[in-house]
Amino acid sequence: MFAIGKYTRFVSRFLDTAEKHFMIGYQVNYYLFTDNPQDIPAVRMGSGRTLNIIFKKKYKHWQEITMWRMEVINKHIVEVAHREVDYLFCLDIDLVFYNSWGPETLGEMVATLHPGYYKTSRGSFPYERRRSSMAYISREEGDFYYIGAVFGGRLKNVYEFTLSCHMAILADKAKGLMAVWHEESHLNRYFLSHKPSKLLSPEYLWPDTIRKPPELRLIRCAQVAKNHKAVRE
Ligand code: UDP
Ligand code: MN
Repeated sequence: MFAIGKYTRFVSRFLDTAEKHFMIGYQVNYYLFTDNPQDIPAVRMGSGRTLNIIFKKKYKHWQEITMWRMEVINKHIVEVAHREVDYLFCLDIDLVFYNSWGPETLGEMVATLHPGYYKTSRGSFPYERRRSSMAYISREEGDFYYIGAVFGGRLKNVYEFTLSCHMAILADKAKGLMAVWHEESHLNRYFLSHKPSKLLSPEYLWPDTIRKPPELRLIRCAQVAKNHKAVRE
């Protein structure tokens, strides 16, 4: 997880609720990247669970922060995570857990259906449509629209995935381009040619402000409402 700038305000709700619902009974190492370690609240961790707080300097724009996560995660796998964990999930910090999120979510490469587009046809997915971008997807292609806030998998696969997204982001940047939905656009492009082995339903990431539709059994995790102006500087 990342909590850069004002996003440290989301940390305690994330961790408090994750400690009740996320991978209970398993060994869990949280890696939290922040520019403000002194603002990270003390949270009581269950047994076999640790919180690792890693200092990272702040970038200027929020889009750059969200995209830069690919590079940071990739380096972190090489430097630290490969010695400590088998699977890695990369989650936004503006989340709250309501119900169990367990080992049913583990897989070689795990992607999550975007709650806003799981009923939409591919022509209207908000993929990057400029051919000049590395994230380009034509109107005739695409299986699903995945959300960028939740992905994971076996370490080796997350390593390859984050490296590829980071390289694509750099290639776009060299041309003065930024994909329409930032790293989410590159994630969608990667999963078009490297199919994830598991898809999580919107039960695993639902907007907190929208009532549960009947086709979802249980909301496990939700994206909390936030005032974008107040948190993105
Ligand atoms: N983030 C951050 N500081 C920022 C912007 C983003 O720490 O100034 C991190 C944080 O983990 C956040 C994630 O990047 O959850 C994605 O950004 P955001 O949640 O704002 O994107 P959205 O879910 O609204 O598309
Ligand atoms: Mn978010």
